[in-house]
Amino acid sequence: MGLRESRRPTRLWSGMLAAIILGCAGTYTFARQDAAIPAAQAAPAARAIPGAVASDFKFAANLEEIRRAASMIPGPRPLRINVVKFAESRRSKKFSVRGAPDEPSVQARTAFQIVYADGTVMLDSGMDQQVHKFFGRGAVEPYDTEAAKQVERALRGARSIVVTHEHGDHVAGVIRTEFLNEIAPKTVLTQLQVHTLMNDPQMPEIRLAQEMAARYVIIDYEKYYPFAPGFVLIKAPGHTPGSQMVYVALQSGREYLFIGDSAWHMDGVRLIMNKDAPWIQEDHEALLTQLKWLNGLYKNEKNLYIVASHDDEQRKEYVAKGILGGRFE
Ligand SMILES: [Zn+2]
Repeated sequence: MGLRESRRPTRLWSGMLAAIILGCAGTYTFARQDAAIPAAQAAPAARAIPGAVASDFKFAANLEEIRRAASMIPGPRPLRINVVKFAESRRSKKFSVRGAPDEPSVQARTAFQIVYADGTVMLDSGMDQQVHKFFGRGAVEPYDTEAAKQVERALRGARSIVVTHEHGDHVAGVIRTEFLNEIAPKTVLTQLQVHTLMNDPQMPEIRLAQEMAARYVIIDYEKYYPFAPGFVLIKAPGHTPGSQMVYVALQSGREYLFIGDSAWHMDGVRLIMNKDAPWIQEDHEALLTQLKWLNGLYKNEKNLYIVASHDDEQRKEYVAKGILGGRFE
């Protein structure tokens, strides 16, 4: 299925980005943003693991390169980052970390707000209650309507929106919204994310038709994508084909790495242990490579805060310590 409809906005975006990249570091060529590439070519055909369309990509990130990319777009870096939990799933820890005990473990559903002096960028977009029901798999699980409203307000107020990956709990807020006219034109999805949403969505509610996909800003990149001052996207397929990590460095110098769902609980990073959840299909090899890299950062980079989207214990700790704000602005 082609992405022809998306050509115009993508060209516009890539032109802007290319100008920025060339303007400050001529030797870097992070972005390969040719929207004319048919989707089938941009996203290699699936192998044995269903949905793992990007499994030919070898993850090999380097923090020094990422820091350089974070300095490529001129301008003041963000001031702070906020998190809001709008729902939760009550699961066993054994699903989040292979070999972990069969004990209760809350999976927080979260979104993040990166606050600059003159605007905000949203990372992940929440979901409505209908999509939330899917994750309960039969059970009715907590959904915080007030917090979900905060997410919606933050999306409407944001300058731009990016998502860690194309699963419903991260992306539904930019698809199933009554404010689509406002939100879609400032939402940046990757080609791989759009490819999954069009061809193999996690649930029917978030499937994108071609004319719908054309309403978003669609980008493609090889490895790193300098998105804003101090803000870099890092290609990391594994949990889904369109998964990416997000590095953010604040003005204060504090660094964050949002790992999406590469691990559901930080014990996955601490123990270099994949999930053991039979209902999801992932590229285990790719994820292990990511977990090894993250484990090294966890041990050695004391100024870098790794953030796992669903780790509720980590969220509480980070908010209590002021590493993340607990409300959107
Ligand atoms: Zn998730």
